[in-house]
Amino acid sequence: MSASIIDGKALAQQVRARIADDVTKLKADHDVTPGLAAVLVGEDPASQVYVGMKHKASEAAGMHSRQIVLPDDTSQEDLERAVTDLNEDEDIDGILVQLPLPDHLDARPVQELIVPAKDVDALNPYTAGRLAVGDPTFFSCTPYGVLEILAHTGVEIAGSNVVIVGRSNLVGRPLSVMLTLKGRDATVTLAHSRTRDLAAVCRSADVIVAAVGRIGLITADMVRPGAVVIDVGTNRDDNGKLVGDVDFDGVVEVAGAITPVPGGVGPMTVTMLLQNTLEAARGRRGLPQR
Ligand code: NAP
Repeated sequence: MSASIIDGKALAQQVRARIADDVTKLKADHDVTPGLAAVLVGEDPASQVYVGMKHKASEAAGMHSRQIVLPDDTSQEDLERAVTDLNEDEDIDGILVQLPLPDHLDARPVQELIVPAKDVDALNPYTAGRLAVGDPTFFSCTPYGVLEILAHTGVEIAGSNVVIVGRSNLVGRPLSVMLTLKGRDATVTLAHSRTRDLAAVCRSADVIVAAVGRIGLITADMVRPGAVVIDVGTNRDDNGKLVGDVDFDGVVEVAGAITPVPGGVGPMTVTMLLQNTLEAARGRRGLPQR
């Protein structure tokens, strides 16, 4: 039996259309245009592509988008000043600093500087702390996208066993918190490079989320028949092709549903950045959230 393929691209289009409608209403009802600022330091080609995608997507949703491009040799002080200026800029609702930064710069103090009300990438430790104690806050975009995919797929999360492979602050760890919040109620195992018998751990899962960065780590023998498999990984194979962490061709024969790479989680990450920016624009003006 072949798994159903979850179309992240189609879902992203659907959610972005709804966000664009919400932006139109926000403008009409409150004269507010959500504004997103992306700070890019240096000329890393992948970062330029990511920032370009975010810029295009936010403009397509009717938002105001600003790109702050700083030279490769920008000092920590100048980068922090750029963020402080954006914190104080009334036209900007969401701020993101594209990672990775050049080696001489330290991302953490910059992330800590972003005011929580504009922290749409959710990388300020304060934001992560609010998430951890169950207070309303921004959700980090990739795990937020995974939640949307699971909801759209109709997966019963409450009470189910979810194995997340990868415990980064960007993906695995915040997702583990989101899924265990009251109301979502999953039972989560957060696996990592020191996990013993990863295959057996994965076979206990109703849902597997792979967020590691290793081609073919999750194979068919690790997946319980009918399980849902979400592949966050983005890797380049020997031919330069974009592939995930899941051995798609094998796992598709066993799983109940699976996200492809590309076209699965990726398009939802940028989409949830737009959602966060919309929420920031409402939140900063005391307007109710959706
Ligand atoms: P990361 O910070 O490098 O974390 C990788 C995690 O995988 C770590 O927790 C590591 O364990 C664990 N790991 C490494 N080898 C393992 C193994 N053999 N078995 C089990 N766990 C293992 O990576 P990340 O930033 O979370 O990104 C993960 C992947 O997602 C990458 O491919 C990245 O490109 C992709 N990604 C995609 C999107 C998207 O929008 N689609 C967004 C973000 C990231 P330790 O903690 O023990 O070292």
